[in-house]
Amino acid sequence: MIDYESRMNDEIVRLKPSGIRRFFDIAAEMDNVISLSIGEPDFSTPWHVRQTGIQSLEKGRTWYSPNRGFMELREEISKWFARRYHVEYDPKSEVLVTVGGSEALDLCIRSLVNPGDEVLIPEPSFVCYVPLTEMARGVPVIIETKAEDQFRLTAEALEEKITPKTKLLILPFPNNPTGAVMRREHLEAVARVVEKHDLLVLSDEIYSVLTYGETGHVSFAEIDGMRERTIVVNGFSKAFAMTGWRLGYALGPKELIRQMTKLHQYAIMSAPTTAQYAAVEAMKNGEEDIEYMRGQYDMRRRLIVDGLNSMGLDCFEPEGAFYVFPSIKKTGLTSEDFCERLIYAKQVAVVPGVAFGNCGEGFVRVAYSNSIKNISEALKRIKDFLQEI
Ligand code: PMP
Repeated sequence: MIDYESRMNDEIVRLKPSGIRRFFDIAAEMDNVISLSIGEPDFSTPWHVRQTGIQSLEKGRTWYSPNRGFMELREEISKWFARRYHVEYDPKSEVLVTVGGSEALDLCIRSLVNPGDEVLIPEPSFVCYVPLTEMARGVPVIIETKAEDQFRLTAEALEEKITPKTKLLILPFPNNPTGAVMRREHLEAVARVVEKHDLLVLSDEIYSVLTYGETGHVSFAEIDGMRERTIVVNGFSKAFAMTGWRLGYALGPKELIRQMTKLHQYAIMSAPTTAQYAAVEAMKNGEEDIEYMRGQYDMRRRLIVDGLNSMGLDCFEPEGAFYVFPSIKKTGLTSEDFCERLIYAKQVAVVPGVAFGNCGEGFVRVAYSNSIKNISEALKRIKDFLQEI
């Protein structure tokens, strides 16, 4: 028998699998389950976008694209971003098309971080930033965001964690799992600290089109002086319901994009060709789809926030993404126990807050990328569950 583990890379063996999928996997084995556990749109990709992908296949366009992505797509991304967020990127040198936002995050972290460099990561947050930093031999430094600040990153909390070794700040807003957004004034306060300490910023804006407050998303690159310090990561998964197409992008100063492109070139070659053709159509003619889906999410958001608050699971009103992050502290259960008991007793799957960092303990993530009918039924079941425990 070969002992595979002893032959593997030690750091990979030590990596823990993501805590999000566990409850999703339990749910997949059960009947009559309502899953509010997975972070992806329940919509299919808009038909005209799918059709463009299909047509590209019919025409036999099945080859690699240029490493950085098709020029036409890079141009459309650049126009789309400038239209929405008022920052210009040169499609030739400042745009890189990647395999989902996920790849862009990895490339950025690996291109910037040297062993021992500290990377500031606000938590609760999406699960990949810490392991990606560790794989680059950087040191993740967690900044706890708090319910009383509506889970925003404050300039004070940021300043406290800065040391001479700090290199990079990850800015994950709109946030998965809390639904927090940063308004312009919050970003400006963070920008002053970034400038003072000469930091670089990886701004994960994958949920940029999904904001529900009065003011829409503001890109960090839009803030005075920040464009030259920021890599923006965005993509098609959430905005256009295109998770399975695996397409995202990074925007940033050409020197950084050039380094990221080398890694991309060797590990990936080029992002999927069919997806890139479809994405051109999404960028050109997808505004109505975005607005339709956003309107639907907004209705569900209000239903679920009211529902959870009225049964005593306090949650602040999230203004972004498609998650609510209610406190379950009153139940006295840990977030893992809460989720496990809920799924076995009532067949409703949600994710323990602790999967997004230790400071997520006492909360659960509920995704509302599901139908009003299912959300209503899930709320009933959660209410019954609370009465029974
Ligand atoms: N960033 C955040 C905050 C996410 O929630 C996700 C997906 N859940 C991603 C990045 C990656 O998305 P994708 O690779 O599908 O573009």
